[in-house]
Amino acid sequence: MRLDPALAALAARTKGFMPEDEAAALRQAAATAAPGLWLEIGTYCGKSTVHLGAVAAARGSHLVTLDHHHGSEENQPGWQWHDHSLIDPRTGRLDTLPSLRHTLADAGLEDAVSVLVATTQQVAPWWTTPLTLLFLDGNHTDDVAQHDYAAFSRHLLPGGVLAVHDVFPDPRDGGAAPWHVVQRALDEGTFTQVGERGSLRLLRRISPVP
Ligand code: MG
Repeated sequence: MRLDPALAALAARTKGFMPEDEAAALRQAAATAAPGLWLEIGTYCGKSTVHLGAVAAARGSHLVTLDHHHGSEENQPGWQWHDHSLIDPRTGRLDTLPSLRHTLADAGLEDAVSVLVATTQQVAPWWTTPLTLLFLDGNHTDDVAQHDYAAFSRHLLPGGVLAVHDVFPDPRDGGAAPWHVVQRALDEGTFTQVGERGSLRLLRRISPVP
């Protein structure tokens, strides 16, 4: 699905870590997901949220985007992907929530997207709603990546789309945690891979949770 030019320009100038070709593949996969509730884990400033939210709005789906908004390890001061302009001067902590609010308002996507400010560990115990799309792009430590996969992929309905970002089979290219998630999903036999673009892997649930 093509983004209208204003949204495409907005997504392009929103801070984040998703190249346009991967975003296009994500939109294309999302357009094949059944209407329903979609969940994005790892919002940051809302770049991919614009892409997914626009497709959700067009498809009659609703997108929930979940993030504690204090950044991952690699976003903290002294790390490679730190952006000092995102520090809240009052708390001294990274805070991407104000940027996200601006992004969603500028995109006109405030009705199509619900913002959930929490850790995935806080949300997992009470989440019960079935999903037709899950985008895993949160914390990339093995512990949390495995937690997020286990806790939320179980809610994906058969036929549901599982997208995983930052998948690097070769450790020289990046962290391995998302790759381990993809391997697990395929090894368990509950997902099949339906697409790949850059570091984005697209899978589809082929059987219910055992
Ligand atoms: Mg990512």
